[in-house]
Parts: sequence; C-alpha cells; structure tokens
Amino acid sequence: MRRPFVAGNWKMNGSRARARVLVAGVCEGARELPEVDVGLCPPFVYVTDAGEVIGDAPVRLGGQTCAGVEYGAFTGEVSAYMLADVGCSFVLVGHSERRMLYGEDDAEVAEKAGFALAAGLSPVVCVGETLAEREAEQTEATVERQLDAVMDRLDRDALARIVIAYEPVWAIGTGRTATPAQANAVHAFLRERVAAREPEVAAGVRILYGGSVKPDNAAALFAEPEVDGGLIGGASLDVGQFLDICRAAV
Ligand code: PEP
Repeated sequence: MRRPFVAGNWKMNGSRARARVLVAGVCEGARELPEVDVGLCPPFVYVTDAGEVIGDAPVRLGGQTCAGVEYGAFTGEVSAYMLADVGCSFVLVGHSERRMLYGEDDAEVAEKAGFALAAGLSPVVCVGETLAEREAEQTEATVERQLDAVMDRLDRDALARIVIAYEPVWAIGTGRTATPAQANAVHAFLRERVAAREPEVAAGVRILYGGSVKPDNAAALFAEPEVDGGLIGGASLDVGQFLDICRAAV
C-alpha cells in the first residue's frame, strides 16, 4: 500500500505574511491527517519562514525547482543542496511551466533530478502532454520520453526515491481536469515503464495527479488505484480547499 502524498505548489504567489498564515493553517490540519504525506512548495524566499512555522508539524517542505548544477556562478539559481540545507525534503523538477516558459528540456530535468537525489531530496518528476499531443494520440509517447530521460540516469536505489507527477498541460490552471479514468490509465502506463526497468521498485513508486484538482473532484481522482495523491496548484493557496483535498486522499 502506497502512502498518499498531497503537495501544494504555490508558484509565484503570496507574500511573506500570507505564507506564514497559510503554512500555519496547513500544519493545524495536517496534524489530524497522519495517513497522508502533506507537502508545501512555497516560493524560494519564503521556504525558511515556512520551515520555521512548520517546526515539528507533519508537513514536508519542498522546492518548486532547483538548479541543474551543483554550486557556482549561476546568478539567480538555487541548488538542491541549498534546499536541503533549509529543510526541504523534496523538489519539483520538470513542471510544465518550467519546461514551457524557461525552456527546460528533458536532459536538464534529468540533471535536476540527479542533483536533487544527490542532495538527499526526493525529486517529484513532472510529466504531461499538451492538448495537441493528446489529440494526436501522443500522450504515452510524450510522458514516456519525459520519464525515460530521468530514469536513464538512475540506478535502482535512486529510482526508488523518486515521485512522479502526471500533470496534463491542458489541465493545469485551466479548470479542466483529466477524468479519473484518463488519469488512472496514464498512471498505469507510467508504472509499467518503471516496472520495465525495475520490477520490484515499480509497485512502491508514488504517482501523483496534478491539473485543476479541487475539493469537489479530488476524491474521485484519488479513488483510482494508480493515483497516489496530488500536486495542487491554485487550490493550495486556500487552506480550507487544500486540506479538503488532503482529506480526500485518506
Ligand atoms: C500545478 O501547478 O502543478 C497545478 C496542478 O496547478 P492547478 O492545480 O492550479 O491546475
């Protein structure tokens, strides 16, 4: 049985004061949810504040991305080691906004995942097809290519530490959600791809769904056997909505 994981991705939203209030609210709710891994990815500058507010509460701290290099002259970048240093235990890599807006390709996403693992973080490897790719029946080819690029670089132990997030690009921030059956089918495909490399690892890898998850559709998505939780954007900016989604994962 895989433990559900629900992570909030705030993207570039909020303020320091609001971040502290949001985190405090999530911590309160998470204490009542011992069955779920609850995680938050604040903007970098608020990660330390968030960690301070979390204290000993059962909420995991994550980064929204990390550098695909270790240290050095990379103005504006934040390394996986720095995220680990300020209390993060996971980091998103390959979010579709990073791929589309900042030109991150599969090779760079794989580099990031590698540095995340080396720093002791779990990379949450985001994969997903655009609407054009879905309509051209390229969904499986797309997510396979994206996942393979990361898996190519990982040995068995490293593979066991990744989390996968299936996020169809057409569902992110659009109010359109994959149906539970659509999500489950892609998750099952992704798990098969992991199994093709490491059969014993595949059953334990958590695969999250992301894309307009809200309190009113979360339970149906999470009820699918291959859906192990969610990556939540917009709804994670509202404590009540985010906690309702976390509760739906129990
Ligand atoms: C996301 O940004 O990863 C996401 C899934 O956003 P939203 O929930 O707003 O669609």
